[in-house]
Amino acid sequence: MTHIDLTTRPFDDHFVRHLPADPSTRPGVRQVHEAIYSLVQPTPVAAPRLLGWSDSLAAELGIARPAPDSPALLALAGNTVLPGMRPYAACYGGHQFGHWAGQLGDGRAINLGEWLTTDGKRYELQLKGAGPTPYSRRADGRAVLRSSLREFLCSEAMHHLGIPTSRALSLVASGDTVIRDMFYDGHPEAEPGAIVCRVAPSFVRFGHFEIHASRADTALVKHLADYVITTQFPELGTEFGTLGPAVYAHWFTRICQRTARLVAHWMRVGFVHGVLNTDNMSILGLTIDYGPYGWLDGYEPGWTPNTTDAEGRRYCFANQPQIAHWNLARLAQAIAPLVDDAAALDAGLAAYSETFNATHSEHLAAKLGLARLARPGHPDDSALISELFALLQRQETDYTVFFRRLADVDLSATEPARSAPLMAAYYAPINAETQHALDGWLTRYHARVLSDPSDPTTRRARMNRANPAFILRNYLAVGAIEAASRGDTGELEKLLHALQNPYTETDTYKLQCRPEWARHKAGCSALSCSS
Ligand code: AMP
Ligand code: MG
Repeated sequence: MTHIDLTTRPFDDHFVRHLPADPSTRPGVRQVHEAIYSLVQPTPVAAPRLLGWSDSLAAELGIARPAPDSPALLALAGNTVLPGMRPYAACYGGHQFGHWAGQLGDGRAINLGEWLTTDGKRYELQLKGAGPTPYSRRADGRAVLRSSLREFLCSEAMHHLGIPTSRALSLVASGDTVIRDMFYDGHPEAEPGAIVCRVAPSFVRFGHFEIHASRADTALVKHLADYVITTQFPELGTEFGTLGPAVYAHWFTRICQRTARLVAHWMRVGFVHGVLNTDNMSILGLTIDYGPYGWLDGYEPGWTPNTTDAEGRRYCFANQPQIAHWNLARLAQAIAPLVDDAAALDAGLAAYSETFNATHSEHLAAKLGLARLARPGHPDDSALISELFALLQRQETDYTVFFRRLADVDLSATEPARSAPLMAAYYAPINAETQHALDGWLTRYHARVLSDPSDPTTRRARMNRANPAFILRNYLAVGAIEAASRGDTGELEKLLHALQNPYTETDTYKLQCRPEWARHKAGCSALSCSS
């Protein structure tokens, strides 16, 4: 496919044309009523420079890498607006940490317009950190390089892991500084700023519906629901304007199922989003809003990467499935006037649980190399699974290394050869009790594997497709951030390359536990929301 310059083909403004705008375009923060978005221009930055470019996404979009100082690059910095673009910030609300927070909105994200690919797909391009909007509240509308680089890389990492996500096309250094109190300890500092161009079919969130529902504006909830269904859920087979309660109920069920599959994937790879507020939940079931996210190093169900969440651990690894369910219940409340049938919405929520359980169990089976898990009954795999996760918690055990190395275990060997590949997963030398528990579990696992129809090669291949060899651990991103802040993008490019083949072991980033030096270093494990 030929790649064309971003400036060659005009953008479309379908979203803007079909949904009601805030009548005001004056600058300044405000409550916006009876509108889905506000038209707003990005604020130019001092000296845009391209730091990161996703060739893989660019190929899907058919977009050529922009040259330095080109109009295309300026557009990706918000310094120029291209033909067809009518930039806007969306109005949404949200439940933050379990509490209704009122109007939030795109406080620093500005949607540029829609790019149509030659194969007929439509994508929104959105700049994060492009300057103030009516929704900026008390903040500056900007983003720092460290959080932008993390979002850029993790969006692409998630995609290549096979997990639904918004994508990232470019990372542009702004040449401006941004003041942030990174540790929330009263010591704000100037940091380099940056802008990420995020890409998704739609950036509509649960909070888009909640805000209008909270204002009892059912007409606007319906207008947006009709738009989203027609443009994003064409499989529901409806025409704009002919939607009724049954279609809205079906749509809700689809959202529940997509969200369930998404969260099951996060659990498979050990991803912790960190801020699962309803304003960070995509209506398409995509991973969106990469902030203080993290990946499990040692398996710890209560681990949260977000220091703001350290107290309550609401958004810790193990809570994610139930939090997503809670968030879906908030969406159900918001669209309830359209469905007018509590039982139908409850059925959607039940579909969430069913889909999550089924997908999670498929993933666990794949992680263990089994064709499928035995359903509860006789025999039943639930004991094997719960013993495994208890084992992983006995001593600090790396989630990624353990599962990946499990495929290398020769189950018919005798100890210590049998468990030798797994020793790399332990953060400290394995103690006698853990070794005993591991031996017992491996023996039961071996018996179970023998009763599975798959041959060893199939089993191993299945495991290596489910258990990544490469994840974007926080400490790896920190190395790339430090180098990029000095103008060196080598590490960033190396990571961008490695994350495109996460299920293949390479020598570039060896499969290993997080190094000890990174255990307490800022940003290498936990992070604040400051971004
Ligand atoms: P987040 O926790 O990143 O999902 O952000 C929650 C809300 O705060 C969203 O409405 C964001 O747009 C807004 N926000 C976060 N950081 C900034 C910023 N630097 N400037 C303006 N708005 C922001
Ligand atoms: Mg957000």
